[in-house]
Amino acid sequence: VKCPYCQGNAALVNGDDVYPARPDLHYKLFWACFPCAAWVGCHPNTAEPLGTLANAELRKLRSAAHAAFDPRWKSGKPGGIGKRRNREYQWLADQLGITVEQTHIGMFNAEMARRVVAICEAVNQD
Ligand SMILES: [Zn+2]
Repeated sequence: VKCPYCQGNAALVNGDDVYPARPDLHYKLFWACFPCAAWVGCHPNTAEPLGTLANAELRKLRSAAHAAFDPRWKSGKPGGIGKRRNREYQWLADQLGITVEQTHIGMFNAEMARRVVAICEAVNQD
């Protein structure tokens, strides 16, 4: 796993290295580049990164994108949650003009994360 900011090798660390104030994350794995203050979590019980390493600004933008988008499939609408999730990711992919395979907020750069927030806010105002 490489750091996208300095191209150096990221280190596999525990949550207490990156979020000392979050005991709930202490035993989770993260890939981190400390010189760039960039990191990313891993899929549960694996060392497989959830996406690319993100610095503080990008972490904030990606979590804003999740906060804007996830309620679309996590609550409310008819159908099973898996179906809703697939449908909403397809919708988001169409809005962004990319394929559903490319639609991973954890892989998005700052501009894409901002677009997710803008798209979801625009439809919520309808
Ligand atoms: Zn780095």
